[in-house]
Amino acid sequence: MRTITVLGATGSIGQNTINVICRHPDKFRTFAITGHTNLEALVQLAVQCSPRYIVLSDPDSYAAFSNLLKQENCNSEVLVGAQALENVCSAPEVDTVMSAIVGAAGLLPTLAAVRAGKRVLLANKESLVMTGELFMNAVREHQAELLPIDSEHNAIFQCLPHDFEYGNLEKSGIAKILLTGSGGPFRTLDNESFDTITPDQACAHPTWTMGRKISVDSASMMNKGLEFIEAKWLFGLHENDIEVVLHPQSTIHSMVQYVDGSVIAQLGNPDMRTPIAHGLSFPDRITSGVKAVDFSSLTDFSFSKPDKSRYPNLYLAIEACKQGQAATTAINAANEVAVDAFLNGHIKFTDIARVNEQVLQKTDFIELTSIVHVIEHDAEARILAQEIVRKLN
Ligand code: NAD
Ligand code: MG
Repeated sequence: MRTITVLGATGSIGQNTINVICRHPDKFRTFAITGHTNLEALVQLAVQCSPRYIVLSDPDSYAAFSNLLKQENCNSEVLVGAQALENVCSAPEVDTVMSAIVGAAGLLPTLAAVRAGKRVLLANKESLVMTGELFMNAVREHQAELLPIDSEHNAIFQCLPHDFEYGNLEKSGIAKILLTGSGGPFRTLDNESFDTITPDQACAHPTWTMGRKISVDSASMMNKGLEFIEAKWLFGLHENDIEVVLHPQSTIHSMVQYVDGSVIAQLGNPDMRTPIAHGLSFPDRITSGVKAVDFSSLTDFSFSKPDKSRYPNLYLAIEACKQGQAATTAINAANEVAVDAFLNGHIKFTDIARVNEQVLQKTDFIELTSIVHVIEHDAEARILAQEIVRKLN
């Protein structure tokens, strides 16, 4: 029986996680679920999985939420605030934490789970992009078990040999990691129309259903850029070891190419319950509710290179990855500010890359030696990004 905390339970990954957990009451029990704003959804989830604790990150919601909970006769205890978020990750009863808060807000609770040596199911890629080596050092120091939930990284993990040594591609005869991406909703849009893209168009992903921030990141391919950086840290790769391949059907979720010419790919329907179930039960396999692939329907199966003029954010993120931690922390922070401004109608879709590029240009390439230092650097990059947004507005 595994005891689980689900950070960001009301989100797309969070709800899919509860869905998988509820299919296996003999294997999983929910210790805590957390949510930020969508109180009705949080109540429904609590009814579904009866957690011991529910954490609200916003203390102002406590009274309204407690009322809703009472109406449903739910006995979970309600906690509020940032410290409670960390406590439900590090509690001794917990063995697995699903990290599915979006953005930098996920960093400290995820680190609390790492420092408590838990099995950490990492969906919140931003926390690893922000902190890189510091995060991975904490995983090693506290003997946490870090398992990737991002579908590409979960696929790579499944395609690597069981005795893969962190960063040692040569020993395993690996030539390259092929990171696939669909190219998002604007893969074939004519270049002149990019300035008029609306938030709803950007959030209408052709193959995956996701939260709004990652949907915009997928449309701009900043998501693939963040995943490039995520892959570097998760598996100890060099930038030259990773190649991004467009695969619009999203059936292959990534591949590992070996020196003898073999390529091992992980396939499946685009449904996050597959990597979630894999992470929850690893090394065992459990059902996830995902339909089996119908190969007779896969008539179209195509691959191409992502175009630099269409996807400037992808190449900015790869550039930041080569520059180092200060640059990746800064571009992640800039992108969160820019995407938020785009979703709120303050800047154009094409301005996201402008904000990211200008913040990257103005970033000092200092060494970030502690998490506190990372958070300060992140805050400075956000201020810079907000200034640029104001000028573009
Ligand atoms: P979402 O927007 O659907 O959900 C985000 C969750 O975070 C919600 O529960 C929300 O209440 C919580 N949250 C937001 N701001 C918060 C704050 N300031 N403090 C505390 N909680 C807060 O997002 P999602 O699509 O589920 O994505 C979650 C994470 O997983 C992201 O980092 C994303 O990159 C990653 N991811 C998502 C998918 C996917 O298919 N959705 C795939 C791979 C990786
Ligand atoms: Mg992904």
